[in-house]
Amino acid sequence: AVPAGPRTRTTETHCPYCSLQCGMAVTAGDRPATLVPLDFPTNRGGLCAKGWSAHELLDHPERLTRPLVRAVPGDRTSPLVEATWDEALDRVVAAIGRTQAEHGRDAVGCFGGGGLTNEQAYQFGRFARVALRTSAIDYNGRFCMSSAAAAATRAFGLDRGLPFPLADVAEADVVVLVGSNPADTMPPAGQHLDAGRARGALHVVVDPRRTATARAAGLHLQPLPGTDLALANGLLHTAVAEGLVDGDYVAARTTGFDAVRDAVAGYWPDRVERITGVPVAQQRQVVRALARAERAIVLTARGAEQHRSGTDTATAWLNLALALGLPGRPGSGWGTVTGQGNGQGGREHGQKADQLPGYRSLADPADRAHVAAVWGVDPGDLPRPGRSAFELLDALGTDGGVRTLLVLASNVAVSAPDARRVVSRLHDLDFLAVSDFFLSETAELADVVLPSAMWAEESGTMTNLEGRVIRRRRALDPPEGVRDDLRLLAELAERLGARGFSADPETVFAELRRASAGGTADYSGITYDRIDAEQGVFWPCPAPAHPGTPRLFTERFATPDGRARFRAVHHVEAHERPDEEHPYVLTTGRVLAQYQSGTQTRRSRSLSLVAPTPRAELHPDLARRLGIAHDDVVELATRRGRARFAAAVTDAIRPDVVFVPFHWGGGSSANALTDPALDPVSRMPAFKVCAVAVTRVGGP
Ligand code: SF4
Repeated sequence: AVPAGPRTRTTETHCPYCSLQCGMAVTAGDRPATLVPLDFPTNRGGLCAKGWSAHELLDHPERLTRPLVRAVPGDRTSPLVEATWDEALDRVVAAIGRTQAEHGRDAVGCFGGGGLTNEQAYQFGRFARVALRTSAIDYNGRFCMSSAAAAATRAFGLDRGLPFPLADVAEADVVVLVGSNPADTMPPAGQHLDAGRARGALHVVVDPRRTATARAAGLHLQPLPGTDLALANGLLHTAVAEGLVDGDYVAARTTGFDAVRDAVAGYWPDRVERITGVPVAQQRQVVRALARAERAIVLTARGAEQHRSGTDTATAWLNLALALGLPGRPGSGWGTVTGQGNGQGGREHGQKADQLPGYRSLADPADRAHVAAVWGVDPGDLPRPGRSAFELLDALGTDGGVRTLLVLASNVAVSAPDARRVVSRLHDLDFLAVSDFFLSETAELADVVLPSAMWAEESGTMTNLEGRVIRRRRALDPPEGVRDDLRLLAELAERLGARGFSADPETVFAELRRASAGGTADYSGITYDRIDAEQGVFWPCPAPAHPGTPRLFTERFATPDGRARFRAVHHVEAHERPDEEHPYVLTTGRVLAQYQSGTQTRRSRSLSLVAPTPRAELHPDLARRLGIAHDDVVELATRRGRARFAAAVTDAIRPDVVFVPFHWGGGSSANALTDPALDPVSRMPAFKVCAVAVTRVGGP
């Protein structure tokens, strides 16, 4: 070990990646940073491979440390060359001025991310509405949590991923995980599941793949992608038929059950088996176990939610949980497993097209008045709700669409559905500015690239999957030439003549607290000091003396009458069904050693050893039929594009389904294939199901 030098210090902070936000201590100063895990409630001393390697990227040779601009302004075929911050910011501000003068305020747009701190997400929303006065802002969480958020808001009147601490999972007698694979996406969370199984709990995994989570579970249901809603309705049908509905709970705490009971009447178990492929016996086993358990939890995640009917699918599982009397009962409930590091906070503070801080609505006059007062502007000057993420991207460069775009912490050239169409739209822009740590596939297309500080170099707060607000603490200084996004926004705002944009995180947090006061995501009682003293504070926390709210809905739901709302929903066929030309179902997801669009993790040496390239998983029966051997190169073709992958032949997947991970771009871009059909409520694209053709194109 290298001895600590005189300027070396150790700082407690959290992993930069997923929503588990594992606690870690970073030692940095006069030697390269190192890290060790901490015993934080979510990770209990564990880290996954991503967390263990997070420090590798801080001094990575490809790290951006100077702004980049086009050698010939306005010519994106000219090379990106280093520039001063003043030169880069001047170009951004000039482009904003030009575009708004020629095409109106909404022709300048902002695109944010679920990796931004709460302060940055808040400030980005304020920057769009006050400094730019544009309605054109949305963020990549639209592609992640929006369906579950919409369903929870509809049912509970409030959206917090887990309405209970993660530790409750260890105490539940039955846990049903729908389209969720924590064993690969957030392995330290597995400790809570392991503890439950050690006590004898039954875990049920609903997933078209036999994932590591499914292998550890007591029961694995393997439905066709896009049929989870039918399965949930079928389970509720069985609950009704077998008298397992908690009638007292339904009568006392909910509204709307009769319509749902009528709606599920047609979901006979054998019909559900035909739609989903899940045997009747398994359906009955799950419902009976859930209904008889003293403590039971239903968790959904992206596998169930990233569909054209994602909101209704999450609603169907919520209906089941409500009918069995789970939400608000000790150790029980429904929750959704958030993906991105600040996927929760990222959607609370106003970077969503239709929302203001505190989950307030841009369409509600009282909400507009509250936030406008905090921001010192006239409510009438606040823009109206704008377009959702894919709709914003799909209109880039068009009449009425965005012509100058500012992107923070997002790599839409890889992460958006129908990604090649989105790349083409990015080319149509008059001006693109991107703030990132590395030259991502999106940054490569930009007119101006702004180098931003990484996780260990910045301060702020994050809100984890439990709704626990935690501190991201600065462990070392960023490289010279790199700036935090709060400072970037403050400097842009100043150049645009907008006042009151602080670059100090605690000052911004104080303003965020005022803006959120009285909203559903109320942070007004949370301070940095409290977070430090209490291992984080759960929102809502409406006053300094309020203890925070680890468990929601114990007495009432956040609806006007305090009751949860059932909603009848029905199975609809996937937007794309297999046909002669595209005979199989494609689904996408994650692998353990990569994260999101891979901008960071693909550059990690140790992670690249584990997952150097993406692989297309297909069943041995399908591989045999198509003459494909393990490691052969296969081309996948959908109605939008083609991409090539090494084949991974495995009996862990259904014979009619092909799986590819979405962390790569270029010729192996999963999202070059995916379907941008949108959920009518959440505007979530149909990432998880489309029709695909598979062809062998070469040997290993
Ligand atoms: Fe923990 Fe998630 Fe980071 Fe892995 S990626 S160490 S699970 S926060």
